[in-house]
Amino acid sequence: LLNQIELAPPDKILGLTETFNNDTNPSKVNLTVGIYKDNYGKVTTFPSISKAQKLIDRELGLNKNLSYLPIKGGKDYAENVKHFLYDESCSSSTNLVAGSEKNYGKQLIDNNRISFAQTLSGTGALAISAKFLALFISKKVWIPNFSWANHMNIFNKNGFKDIHYYSYYDVKSGQLTVDNWLNDLKEKVSKDKSPEPHCIILHACCHNPTGLDPTREDWDKIIDTINELKMIPIIDMAYQGLESGNLIQDAYLLRKCIDPKYVWDNGLFLCQSFAKNMGLYGERVGSLSIVAPSHSPPRVKEAVDSQLKRIIRSIYSSPPGYGSRVANLVLSDPGLKSQWFKDVNIMVNRLQGIRDQLSTNLDWSTVNDSQQHGMFYFTRFSLPVVQELRDKYSIYLTDDGRLSLSGINDSNIEYVCDTFKKIENQ
Ligand code: PMP
Repeated sequence: LLNQIELAPPDKILGLTETFNNDTNPSKVNLTVGIYKDNYGKVTTFPSISKAQKLIDRELGLNKNLSYLPIKGGKDYAENVKHFLYDESCSSSTNLVAGSEKNYGKQLIDNNRISFAQTLSGTGALAISAKFLALFISKKVWIPNFSWANHMNIFNKNGFKDIHYYSYYDVKSGQLTVDNWLNDLKEKVSKDKSPEPHCIILHACCHNPTGLDPTREDWDKIIDTINELKMIPIIDMAYQGLESGNLIQDAYLLRKCIDPKYVWDNGLFLCQSFAKNMGLYGERVGSLSIVAPSHSPPRVKEAVDSQLKRIIRSIYSSPPGYGSRVANLVLSDPGLKSQWFKDVNIMVNRLQGIRDQLSTNLDWSTVNDSQQHGMFYFTRFSLPVVQELRDKYSIYLTDDGRLSLSGINDSNIEYVCDTFKKIENQ
């Protein structure tokens, strides 16, 4: 059987970096991967992260502790991440959910509603969610069209049989299609009479690949509909902080979903990552939380906890230690934490600066629209154009025309803009 295995296609995004690395053109520009690079094209370590690393190295010696973490990760990490996500990011003082007086997230922590696991970054959180859901609750999921290509891959490889796409973005107009999105759900989900609920993946902010997010008013409508249809929200929050430069502000979708007026009978899933907002890409630091509905007895949360443990144990046993210690220190030390908030802000300002430059140099009116956020811009270049850019000019975008803004810097912006102009005028 081994010799009947077919060649798998290369990864749509990471495969391109391999091709880029082999390209000998000295002018080559890699605008594919979602990694933040500074104006010198370097993947930098944020000052907050460097300081935490030094502390760990010199003073605490924690990286000398190479023993296993528990299956669901360290206790301190769980406490600090839950506090950051559900208390700070959901605090009413941010006053971003209209009419919300209370910090409902803090209540979820205090009432022990949250099953939490440290995961192998956002991808690990999504994969464990998919495994858990497919085993116990549902094998049906809705993914936006367009979406991060790995969403489909993750759910498909972890037991999901029924993968649907909801309208998200219209390539012609370059606009979101929220009405079509809601119609898709209303038409198809409400007609499905089977008892198996439908899951839905929601990009919390900085939608990948389009960079275009719903407005707050849109989210309100969307969440109302998802709730009416008794769907299971899976919030994918891989870019918290990269929307506005303010980590707390960007958790709107989470704040919205934990409002007690919504009762998520089959749980609310949050897949969260520190890859981008802490620059801890390769350290694989993130979390999965499953919020049990308020009416459920304590045994429900206990059962979820125990099954999560079992799933994780069967795949990788326990998460890696070092990166999570760094994140934990940043989250628990007020000085490091305020530095981290500044670091994120600086990164977002640079990305906004690139948007401004592209908008000035090219006739790209949408690149700095108010709903455009994060690392990516969707050029809407067709595949032949993307291929021409790659083959003739060594400018690498993903096949769908997504451009990673942070790959642009002072030394290549002229080349990139001139080439785009040439391509657009031909
Ligand atoms: N979700 C989305 C939408 C992403 O773009 C990414 C990163 N490219 C992830 C999740 C997960 O990333 P990581 O596993 O590195 O945290």
